[in-house]
Formats: sequence, structure tokens, C-alpha cells
Amino acid sequence: MDIRLAPEDRALQQQAREFTDQVLIPLEDECEEHDGLSAESHARAKRAVLDWRFEAINHAVEDGGRGYDVFQVMLIEEQWGRATGALWDIPWRPSIPLASGTEAQKERFLRPACRGERRDAYAITEAGAGSDPTMVETTAVRDGDGWVLNGTKWHVTSGDVADFFLVHAHVDGDPAKPTVFLVDKDAPGVRLVRIPKYTHTFVFEHPIFAFEDVRVSDDQVLGAVGEGFELTKAWFVEERLMIGARTMGASARALELSLGFAKRREQFGRPIVDFQAIEFMLADMAAEIMAATSMLYRVCWMAARGGMGRKAVHAQASAVKLVCSETAGRVIDRAVQIHGGRGYMREQPVERLSRELRVDRIWEGTSEIQRAVIGNELRKRGPDAYLAWPSA
Ligand SMILES: Cc1cc2nc3c(=O)[nH]c(=O)nc-3n(C[C@H](O)[C@H](O)[C@H](O)COP(=O)(O)OP(=O)(O)OC[C@H]3O[C@@H](n4cnc5c(N)ncnc54)[C@H](O)[C@@H]3O)c2cc1C
Repeated sequence: MDIRLAPEDRALQQQAREFTDQVLIPLEDECEEHDGLSAESHARAKRAVLDWRFEAINHAVEDGGRGYDVFQVMLIEEQWGRATGALWDIPWRPSIPLASGTEAQKERFLRPACRGERRDAYAITEAGAGSDPTMVETTAVRDGDGWVLNGTKWHVTSGDVADFFLVHAHVDGDPAKPTVFLVDKDAPGVRLVRIPKYTHTFVFEHPIFAFEDVRVSDDQVLGAVGEGFELTKAWFVEERLMIGARTMGASARALELSLGFAKRREQFGRPIVDFQAIEFMLADMAAEIMAATSMLYRVCWMAARGGMGRKAVHAQASAVKLVCSETAGRVIDRAVQIHGGRGYMREQPVERLSRELRVDRIWEGTSEIQRAVIGNELRKRGPDAYLAWPSA
């Protein structure tokens, strides 16, 4: 068993680390103080994404992406996750189901999105439909040679900077016909309802949008009618693994900052790292990050290069998301404690991480939903679904 990183993967990781240190982290204070970036800073950061060749890391080269596999995408996202303010969301990573589009759809939506000329946002959640997407009330009704959409979507991340949406709707209101529609934001009937405030400071917003008699044509159906849940599931799998990556990057930064602080900070005549209470917190942080990162790397490597089937990846992505996000929650809580009063100041990265990492236990399926996925898998396939070790 050789678990060493290949030289090209190591180089990619290093490049992502430098991009985070040189491009993203210098924007943190502006993002926190102004609850986002100025148009100039955002435009500069977008140019940097292209200069560093980090656009659409998850899409094929022929579509204008960088063509990295899910293991490499994870290595990059792990480093980006070190930045606060969700600045990792500046480098656009168009939703993976867009790769299932027709040639015409790719030309109109995916390829411009890969180039950074367009941007998508994924709209599933509604006031009455969260963990259970079968409760979606957004409808698509056949009308002549097209469709008419009606419904209201909540928490549409980056909806403020997006110019088109992947809207998860039920054809004829039938939960057995979930379908994803590609909807231009400037289409008649798309209305921004409001932009709620959230706990974290996020470089973009999570607005609520209403779709009121929005007409779309047949060529705006992504995949087939009734296939929406499969597409949305593919999105969940990638996002869950990337949440694993970013929470581990954020946790590693929290550990570095905490160790540095504990060595510098003196109380009672000695550095606080000399108190076993502090040292043990650091030890738990390091050990738990090591455990969760090992799992993250293993599952992403298997998903990319180990011939793991789609269902197995879905099942294991839930375990990764659960373990990494819950680990990060414990790690960051200790980081705040080690920083004392400073850990409660917004000018400190650990404070910002403490607000930011909380949502990782909620979005893309709550921890309870991940446990439900794992439990279901255990019932169907037994412990080997999680415990079997792959062999060559
Ligand atoms: C900042 C932010 C950004 C988001 N971005 C997007 C986005 O871009 N697109 C999008 O579509 N959605 C987005 N979401 C929505 C997010 O995915 C949902 O909030 C999440 O899936 C939970 O749904 P809910 O909020 O309706 O909670 P609910 O489903 O109402 O859950 C409430 C509580 O009940 C628990 N619960 C529910 N069902 C079960 C069960 N079967 N067993 C045990 N416990 C259960 C949950 O775990 C939770 O603790 C975002 C949310 C946030 C906060």
C-alpha cells in the first residue's frame, strides 16, 4: 500500500496553498469589514483565478475546465478552505450536473460558466422542503412546446452573482417526476424576494428567489424529465466531499493559529502551551484532523482512481461529510478557547471560522441526514459498505 502523494498531486496542492495565501487570505479583512468584496476586489480576484488556472477545476478540458479528478479537486479545495469569508467560493466550480447537458446546453451554459463569463446557482430548497426534497412545491407544467415554472426557492447560494439557476422542480406537481431546469436569471418572472442575513460572513449571498410563470423551452430541461433527483444527488455527492475538504483545510489552519498563539501567549509567567489543559486541546485537534483527513483522502482517491461505483461513492461521501464537518466543529471550538478573548473577536480568523464551519453540519444534508444515509446503507449492504478495505 503506497499512500504517498504523486508528484503532480503534491505540486497542485502546493499551488492551491500559494493561491490561498497570496490571493484569498489578503481579502479576508475587507470581506469581514464590508460583508463582502467591492466590485474591484471581486474583479481582481476573478482575474487571479484565471491567471492561476483555477477556473472550473471540476470540469473536462474540452468544456473549458481544468480536467482534474475528484481527488485533485479535493486537494485544491482543502487548501482554499483555509480562507475565511467563504472566499473559496470565488474560484467558480460550475455544478457537476451541467456536464450531463446536451451540446447546445453546454455551449449556452456550461462552457461560458467554465470560462467565468456566466455563473450558476443551484435552487432546490424551499420554505417547506429541506431535508426532504420530495416536498418541493415548485411546479413545471407543460404549455405548448415549453414549460411554465412556479415556486419559491430559499438559500440560493451565490444567487446574487449567478446569472442562471439549476431549478429543481416537480413536473405537474408530481414528486415522481423531479426535473432540473436551466433558468436564466433575467427571464421574465424571476424575482428576487429578499436577501436574508446569516450567521457567517460569506463573500456572496444566499437570496430567496420566486419563479412566477417563468417560461422555459424544452432545451432548458437538464437530463430527462423525472431524472432531477439523480442529477441533484450527483451534485450532493461532489459538494459533500468538498465540504469534507474545506472543513479539513479550515481545521488545519485553526490548529496552526492555535499552536502559534499558545507558544507566544504568556500567562502566569510561561507560555500557555506549557499548561497541559492547552496542550491536550492541541493534541486532540491534531489527532482528530489526522483521522478525518485520512478518511477524506482515502474516499476521494477511491472515487477518482479506485473504480468505486456511483452508489458506493454516494454512501461514503455521507460518512466523509459527517465526520469532517463534526470534527471541524470540535476543532474550531477548541481553537476559540485557546485564543481566549481574542478568539471571540471578528478580526481573528478563528472567530470567523467558528461562525463559518457551523453551517457545514447543516447544508448539503444535515448531520442527521448523513447518518440516515449511512444507516440505510448498513441495512442494505452490511458493515462492509464502510469497513471493507479495497485491494488491488
Ligand atoms: C447558508 C446556507 C446556504 C445554503 N445553500 C443552498 C443552496 O445553494 N441551494 C439549496 O437548494 N439549498 C441550500 N441550502 C439549504 C440547505 O441544504 C438546507 O437548509 C438543509 O438541507 C436542511 O434543510 P432545512 O433547513 O429545511 O431543515 P429541515 O429539513 O427542516 O431540518 C430541521 C431539523 O430536522 C432534522 N431532520 C429532518 N429530517 C430528519 C430525519 N429524517 N431524521 C432526523 N432528523 C431529521 C434536521 O437534521 C434538522 O436538524 C443552504 C442553507 C444554508 C443555511
